Amino acid sequence: MAFELKGRRVWIAGHRGMVGAALLRRLQREPVTLLAADRAALDLRRQADVETWVEKNKPEAIIIAAAKVGGIKANDAYPVDFLYDNLAIQTNILRAAAEQGVARVMVLGSSCVYPKLAEQPIKEETLLTAPLEPTNQWYALAKIAAMKLAESYRRQHGRDFVSVVPTNLYGPGDNFDLEQGHVISALMRKIHEAKQAGRDAVEIWGTGNPKREFVFVDDAADGLVFLLQNYAGEDPINLAGGEEVSIRELAGLLAEIINYQGRFEYLTDRPDGMPRKLLDSQRISKMGWVPSTSLRDGLMATYRWFAQTRL
Ligand code: GDP
Repeated sequence: MAFELKGRRVWIAGHRGMVGAALLRRLQREPVTLLAADRAALDLRRQADVETWVEKNKPEAIIIAAAKVGGIKANDAYPVDFLYDNLAIQTNILRAAAEQGVARVMVLGSSCVYPKLAEQPIKEETLLTAPLEPTNQWYALAKIAAMKLAESYRRQHGRDFVSVVPTNLYGPGDNFDLEQGHVISALMRKIHEAKQAGRDAVEIWGTGNPKREFVFVDDAADGLVFLLQNYAGEDPINLAGGEEVSIRELAGLLAEIINYQGRFEYLTDRPDGMPRKLLDSQRISKMGWVPSTSLRDGLMATYRWFAQTRL
């Protein structure tokens, strides 16, 4: 069931975040009317405000890119923010969309929704078959709830709400805070600063052995727009097909790109999180979509953005 974007009013909830900003860039190339609400104008955690906004602005499609996000340490340190804020944001938008008859809504999950020890590559049907990884369970639970809420609206009220599970994303607009950010932005900044200060070692959390798959955010935005137009199933669909590397390999690649000659020190008392998180991308690739940016090219583009924007 193809969804024609032409002439539609599309709301990107969370357009200031890394994914939302990439979606804006991507959708500016389509013949749509883009809607966005700044945080000062609309607090997505307040249900009545969200309902009023949706009623007034009449989106016909919504992508929920708004979320409280963060890396392994932030997840563990702020469980209420990750669970409550995300539950509220998603529930409010889905309910308002259902009430106003929004034609299509896309919920974004996360690869951490799958069990800690899931069989790799992780297929969509693995959802809820075994326990979660404890370090990001708060975020994962909120995302699972949103995916199930979308499914339940589809079942009970025939709403065209779909769930997409993107793999780990990175790129321009990422959060480069060392405590809050994910591994790529954090390591990029640490290595860059070590090089500038002439320090000969950079600290890496954990053993360096966990493996992660990464997709560049502009590829992800392209995939989301592809799915918005072409996917209307009850089951979630993985947005993946990126490159898988160990954290150790990632650090090496970043050192090469940044031209850093120093060493890495592994803080093995810090958690590794999920040992491996490679999503099965067969469903989306059979539909005809694969990411196009190599990890090296994506990291170089991200580093250029970081160096220009942050310094
Ligand atoms: P995750 O994919 O949900 O585990 O989130 P992260 O991107 O935060 O972490 C991925 C992996 O990188 C974990 O094994 C972390 O322990 C490891 N890692 C190593 N150094 C860092 C760092 O400086 N920041 C972050 N966020 N993770 C790091």
